[in-house]
Amino acid sequence: MKDLVAFSISALALAESAIATAQVGSSVTTALGSFELTKGAACACSKLSRAYSGIISPSSANYTAQAADAYWDVRANLSPACIFLPSTADEISRALEIFQTCDAQFAVRGGGHMNYPGSNNIDGGVLLALEKFGKVKVNAESVEVGPGLTWYDVYAALEAYGRAAIGGRMKTIGVPGLSLIGGFHYFNNKYGYAMDNVLSYDVVLGNGTQVVTNKTSHPDLFWALKGGANNYGIVTKFTLKTYAIPKVSTTIQVFNESGIPDFLAAVCGIAKLDEEDPIAAGMVATVQYNATAKVASASLLGVQEGISRPPSQFANFSAIPATTRINNVTTIRQWASSLDSPKQMFRVMFSHKTMKPDQDALISIYKAWKDAVDEIADVEGLYPTFITNVAPAGAARVALTNGVGNVWGLEAEPYILWQFSTGWALAQDDLRIEAWSRELIERLNTINIEKGLASDFIYMGDAGEWQDPFAGFPAENVARMRAIKASYDPLRVFSRLNWGGFKLNV
Ligand SMILES: Cc1cc2nc3c(=O)[nH]c(=O)nc-3n(C[C@H](O)[C@H](O)[C@H](O)COP(=O)(O)OP(=O)(O)OC[C@H]3O[C@@H](n4cnc5c(N)ncnc54)[C@H](O)[C@@H]3O)c2cc1C
Repeated sequence: MKDLVAFSISALALAESAIATAQVGSSVTTALGSFELTKGAACACSKLSRAYSGIISPSSANYTAQAADAYWDVRANLSPACIFLPSTADEISRALEIFQTCDAQFAVRGGGHMNYPGSNNIDGGVLLALEKFGKVKVNAESVEVGPGLTWYDVYAALEAYGRAAIGGRMKTIGVPGLSLIGGFHYFNNKYGYAMDNVLSYDVVLGNGTQVVTNKTSHPDLFWALKGGANNYGIVTKFTLKTYAIPKVSTTIQVFNESGIPDFLAAVCGIAKLDEEDPIAAGMVATVQYNATAKVASASLLGVQEGISRPPSQFANFSAIPATTRINNVTTIRQWASSLDSPKQMFRVMFSHKTMKPDQDALISIYKAWKDAVDEIADVEGLYPTFITNVAPAGAARVALTNGVGNVWGLEAEPYILWQFSTGWALAQDDLRIEAWSRELIERLNTINIEKGLASDFIYMGDAGEWQDPFAGFPAENVARMRAIKASYDPLRVFSRLNWGGFKLNV
């Protein structure tokens, strides 16, 4: 950061004249850490405080609730200079104008689940938290949703109408982050990714202008927002397609270590399923390893559209001896209600790569991961998981045939996204875990490259902060994204002032 001016944080609550004096003061220590405030943030916090009541400063009673408790990963807790909770698009427009005038850096938070520091929070800058955007309006075949909502809120609003949207699989994931990066749901194989189901975005651009983008209005921006993340503007409303899905058939299955090879083979089977008239079905498939007890287990959370019980698409899993098997018919809201992902549980490092579904290769990766976890078994609070997400051909086919597409540009081929999600307790182990995870995933991916199994595709929701998802998109899509960015964000507000998250290199 250039042009740093340290100043006393308590001055934020005071009038602008007082702030001007305070800018020559010392650096600041809050409950969450020490930081120096940029001159831009001092200016922006002051202007926001004059324009709106309720600006939160480090001395406010609710500062820690906003700057830390609202985040899933403890590493994402930072120390913003002030926090603004806008409730209208006009307020966001005004804030963006202020950020430009002051040259102030800012971060934006929706559901707070993106896990790495700086993706949705900021030291010494301004944090915009969108939780007041909580409106939801149900239409006949769509739903209008504010970016302050979680996917559970959306499923809950739709339940009475027997309809469902394509969003997150866990209860508390935010609508905005997931929709803007792609969105893995259970039913991707039939309905595409969450981004493919956004009919319209209301956006505030970097210069404060408000636009509505859809198939016919600003269609270039509409396309770029389908996977383009936080590079173009702040979305203040998502209009999502909904489907008549009154009931879902679910299965929870847990396997002990001897069942894991068959479990991973079944994951490959689900990825490869490509029926002409597909039944919407998908899952969360996770392997856990307790490196102290030296015990691994695997779990399946499977969901299928309709009421066939048990869900037919998971027959390959159901054939494996399980320690737990619970089948049910319920609603998507009820199912999601039991799948919370509590905030602030641990520090977490994600690393992920993509491959063609090959069961022998996937099983080898799992075994190598388990061996490697033993090397870090001494890390306090270690919580290692090996997660697979499937990207079936049918999911890509939706974007290939809907007349809009998305920035991923995936071919209609099946893929498996494999991910190490590693939790730990102490900051002193941050560098060790990152180095371990990076080395391991690169080494194992090299083997996949040699076997012709690797894909360059990287999903922002599963990636580590050190990974570059744009490098895995088709080059012509990235060039088009950059051109669209140049035209909608010519002042580079969303790269220069809002720099957290996965940014296009422009
Ligand atoms: C426990 C867990 C489970 C997950 N499960 C799934 C899953 O089932 N499927 C899946 O696809 N992904 C999943 N993810 C990944 C998840 O989709 C991403 O972390 C996503 O970014 C979360 O959205 P959010 O609104 O909660 O995030 P936030 O952290 O609030 O935001 C993510 C990014 O989007 C930006 N942003 C937020 N709101 C806006 C807005 N209105 N306009 C512009 N930019 C904005 C933020 O600045 C930030 O850079 C999971 C992650 C976790 C931690």
